[in-house]
Amino acid sequence: MRYFPLFLDLDGRDVLVIGGGSVALRKVETLCSAGARVRVIAEAIHEALRALATRDGIPLQERRFESRDIEAHGLPRPRLVIAATSDREVNAVVARAADAAGIPCNVVDDRELSTCLMPAIIDRSPVQIAVSTGGASPVLARLIRERLEALLDESLGPLAQFADRWRVTARKVLANVSARRRYLSWLLTGSAAQAIRSGRSAEADRLATRELARLCHRADRADRDADSTAAGHVSLVGAGPGDPGLLTLKGLRALQEADVVIHDRLASAGVLELARRDAERIDVGKRPGAGTSQDAINALLVEHARRGRRVVRLKGGDPFIFGRGGEEIDALRAAGISFDVVPGITAAVAASASAAIPLTDRRHVHAVRLITGNDAGILDAFDFSDVAAGRETLAVYMGVAQLPALRARLLAAGVTPAMPVALIENASRAEQRVVATTAASLVAAADAHHVASPAIALVGSVAVNQTRST
Ligand code: SAH
Repeated sequence: MRYFPLFLDLDGRDVLVIGGGSVALRKVETLCSAGARVRVIAEAIHEALRALATRDGIPLQERRFESRDIEAHGLPRPRLVIAATSDREVNAVVARAADAAGIPCNVVDDRELSTCLMPAIIDRSPVQIAVSTGGASPVLARLIRERLEALLDESLGPLAQFADRWRVTARKVLANVSARRRYLSWLLTGSAAQAIRSGRSAEADRLATRELARLCHRADRADRDADSTAAGHVSLVGAGPGDPGLLTLKGLRALQEADVVIHDRLASAGVLELARRDAERIDVGKRPGAGTSQDAINALLVEHARRGRRVVRLKGGDPFIFGRGGEEIDALRAAGISFDVVPGITAAVAASASAAIPLTDRRHVHAVRLITGNDAGILDAFDFSDVAAGRETLAVYMGVAQLPALRARLLAAGVTPAMPVALIENASRAEQRVVATTAASLVAAADAHHVASPAIALVGSVAVNQTRST
């Protein structure tokens, strides 16, 4: 380890900054937010820094730095020195003087002169993450920071405060050490954490009280069965159409926290890879005549949550669009298991984007309808007159096997034979294909190109916009 990482308490303590430009300004701002008492020496001072100094009462000395400024008579000895001038010679003088006085010194973007480095920071106070590449590549440190920023949502700070608050109570109330440990981990992963994340802090406190009471009761009975105490949670997560880039950040976080991922056939390998390495993965993909029945899936969700695990039910597209998500949450409600739903990009939206076919058009198409095409009887019950009138776009899911029925219903409803239809197979995936055809020839086109599931049909005048045809 080349550098020793450390978090410094500068609240109310003195820091000397040499330099008055925009780089110095940023350092002064960060130092002030940590409560440091900053003093600045610089030959020229940036307007914004001057304004900040006036506002916050920061002493500015407009002159060249001299070595004796480090330990100036009558002034407190700084705990940290930062050199942020654009003149390397001045920076070197500062660094030497600070080193001689035994005070850590950071020279911005100059690790040779520095005795300490400033990391890239992800601030979710009280949680702070500092990233350093040991000066090798500040750009890489910033890239890592951006990734972490995306992974760690704003609720992390409130979550840490929540856990801190209840930790103190748990210490008083729960004498049993293993029960206490379980409670502390439940605070961060259980249903109360979920409530904090969605900004429902009163509910989180209620849940924390209830769980604490339950654990006290169990500890009294000396029940040490780890599995039966913690309450699990199920997240229904929309995996999107396949391209991992189309998963939401919230979905990604849920995947990375999951102990077990129960997924569909449509959840792509690329998305599954984003789950924790050690998470259990269960494929319940429903193929015609195979796969796991919906009842069995519901039972599986309940069973894993009852064992105190964080379950992600990963579903292709969006969980609530032809995803049977409704049946799953009914089962979870009936079993009293906490859950949340993370939406996903549904196939119609993904297909529309990747084939460059807008689903609506302000000039003439004022509605879009998502329908399931897997049952000719269901198709019979629909009125296609708005499609025929060119006012509506139709997105037909699960329709590959029933294209002849779809064609017949459309034409019978008065849809013109020349009405554009786009068949989009594997939208957003590397294997994506778009077949441009018309209402009259959609069956022939699908046969000629061997269009197979998963594919979606977009029907309507908008479907003509796209130019690609495979
Ligand atoms: N919940 C999913 C739909 C599940 S039904 C969603 O919101 O997208 C399964 C049907 O979705 C498939 O038969 C197909 O019509 C469509 N589908 C799902 N992923 C698709 C993809 N990548 N490309 C085209 N169609 C897709």
